[in-house]
Amino acid sequence: MDMTRRQFVKVAGAAGVSALMGEGLAACATRDGYDVVVIGAGVIGCCTARELARYDASVLVVEGGLDVACGATRANSGIVHTGYDPLPGTSKARYNVEGARLFESWQRDLGFTYYKNGALVLAFDDADMATLEELRLRAQANGAPETTVIGRDELRELEPNVSPEAVGALSVPDSGVCDPYGLTIAAAENAADNGVEFLFGSPVTGVEASAEGYRVTTAAGNAYAARAVVNAAGINSDLINNMVSSAKLAIAPKRGEYHLFENTVHAFTRTMFQTPSDKGKGVLVGVAAFGNQFCGPNSVAQESRTDVATTREGLDEVLQKAARTWPDVGAGNVISNFVGLRASNADTGDFVVGQAEDAPGFFNAACIDSPGLASAPAIAQDLASQVAGYLGAGDNRDFNPKRTPAPLLVMMDEDQKAALVAQDAAYGREVCHCCHVSEGELVAQLHRPIPAGCLDALKWRTGATMGPCQGGRCTARIAEIVMRELGEAEPPLQKRFAGSTLVGEDADGQAVRLDLGDGATASEIPAGKGASANSDGAANDAAADEAAAPAGAGEATAPAAGADGGGATASEDDGPFELPRAHWRIPGSRCAGVYSARCTMDLMDALGCLPGENAVVWGDTDLARRCAERLRAAGASVEVVLPQSESLARVDGTPRVEEAVFEASDGTLRAVPCDLLVVSAAMSG
Ligand SMILES: Cc1cc2nc3c(=O)[nH]c(=O)nc-3n(C[C@H](O)[C@H](O)[C@H](O)COP(=O)(O)OP(=O)(O)OC[C@H]3O[C@@H](n4cnc5c(N)ncnc54)[C@H](O)[C@@H]3O)c2cc1C
Repeated sequence: MDMTRRQFVKVAGAAGVSALMGEGLAACATRDGYDVVVIGAGVIGCCTARELARYDASVLVVEGGLDVACGATRANSGIVHTGYDPLPGTSKARYNVEGARLFESWQRDLGFTYYKNGALVLAFDDADMATLEELRLRAQANGAPETTVIGRDELRELEPNVSPEAVGALSVPDSGVCDPYGLTIAAAENAADNGVEFLFGSPVTGVEASAEGYRVTTAAGNAYAARAVVNAAGINSDLINNMVSSAKLAIAPKRGEYHLFENTVHAFTRTMFQTPSDKGKGVLVGVAAFGNQFCGPNSVAQESRTDVATTREGLDEVLQKAARTWPDVGAGNVISNFVGLRASNADTGDFVVGQAEDAPGFFNAACIDSPGLASAPAIAQDLASQVAGYLGAGDNRDFNPKRTPAPLLVMMDEDQKAALVAQDAAYGREVCHCCHVSEGELVAQLHRPIPAGCLDALKWRTGATMGPCQGGRCTARIAEIVMRELGEAEPPLQKRFAGSTLVGEDADGQAVRLDLGDGATASEIPAGKGASANSDGAANDAAADEAAAPAGAGEATAPAAGADGGGATASEDDGPFELPRAHWRIPGSRCAGVYSARCTMDLMDALGCLPGENAVVWGDTDLARRCAERLRAAGASVEVVLPQSESLARVDGTPRVEEAVFEASDGTLRAVPCDLLVVSAAMSG
């Protein structure tokens, strides 16, 4: 991978801000040395950077991934716990209670999704009821908001879909949900607006004491001098600590798997926990900030700090445990599965926050597992004030705590939408039909204080590709808009991490260009409105212009995919709808290079590239057949596997797909190497 090439984003125009992809650029960071280098741009690193901006100090945030929140912050339950659960006297108890209290004021300043929906902790027998009483007292001891124990009837009244087996619950009315990514990017943007610099695609490989304080070295071999360091490296925070301190830390990673349902599923309004055990808070049924019901996580210890592949066993376990709360739960309406890795402290189970005793100027925010999200604002404030005290930094009198979020149509009423479209017609061109995201919203994210630096950044900032088709119909169009907008950018675009290229690369690391003059044109793509990219962007735009109307007609609800897999269509004029991978319960890594047939063909036309040279097409649809033909015609080797013969048991590869594992009816497994996997089984059921 050529890291000297700028990837996807431009240097931000805002004064004093650089948000860069890839370090090979001559001047990645604007100074020789910084007062503070923050390692990691998760919720802790970004909130801390924002709080550091209140002081008169130069700050650089160094992140390994291509976006903020590349670790646990992107894959968790999103619950703002009130603090009834952590043991009194622990750092978790203190920061959780203080952090949750700060959410409302942070939301007012930064503009991210957060609301109190309340939580119920369910009891299924007398022993559970006794534990709930302990939790009620613990909430008091921790200084958390009041909780009450309620009986069966009240529980049923509050949540009619709860299992009849539940005999009572602890009611936690102040429990909330937030958009963890939204909080993180909001804090990062506000930090950037106040002069903090960000460096992405730059994993830190070394930290050592130096005359100035510390030298922070990245994988590209660049070194950044800092008077102080904040270690917010999530799952790797023990490794970073151990580079400078003899008080060694050890993280024991624990995976948690999830099912995310389409947003027509509404079983509960509150977060539904089960009585906790020594394994943690257990599998819950929750509501994500944008309204989708989800269930998870389980808790499984693993060695790897990077493996976030889902497993058949884990996903089954989660559904089985969720059924105790929600008897009607089923996998039929699942649109996505994911895994989060907890950075659990193997020795004490507690957070490690503050200056390392034997390393002056080196500050930890290490081993931050749950409730790290709820605690983030409090950890950030505390750490920033400790760091400022160490540096002797005064106040930054220019600090502006307010951030103006980019417009999101789903948050607007009809008049607001119409006004926006009148200003800029791109807001009237809907690109993601499932989640009603317009071209204008996507374009805006490419020019924010921290520009979206990869496709997942656009997804998480706008909601595009998050609906029932999971990007099957709009990914190519989005890629086309990015390339048009940034001018100099060219394939391969990245999904989230370096190497997670949207289209495959040849041996020289170049996307394989198609000869579009060979008759392989957009005309072969099934008709679709707006979502189908074509090789003539202007024509496509003109067509969309004609249809210009405010996107997202006032509803956040995406169209339903067929629960039974029986050939659902999103809407009459959106073209064929292929159900996403999660619908077919296909576990494995969440790598780049797994697409629907339509998406594959759209990518060929939109980018003029071969999505992969060694393709496997799992499907029996007309689209699958046409896709296989087009790939072959473009020079790819293609194996077509019929769902009736073999099920798709697993997908492997990181960051791009490397193999598909098929299972025959007699249980025989067969691994097929590939760099492109097409899943197109929607029409056959
Ligand atoms: C399954 C699960 C469910 C959870 N549910 C909740 C919940 O409901 N409520 C709650 O309060 N908390 C919850 N948590 C905990 C919460 O998600 C975490 O505590 C929080 O996200 C930790 O944030 P962080 O910034 O410390 O780590 P991360 O989000 O992991 O961020 C660390 C960042 O550092 C980067 N990085 C790592 N190594 C390096 C390096 N060497 N160089 C440069 N960058 C590096 C990573 O790419 C990443 O972006 C949950 C966690 C999990 C896993």
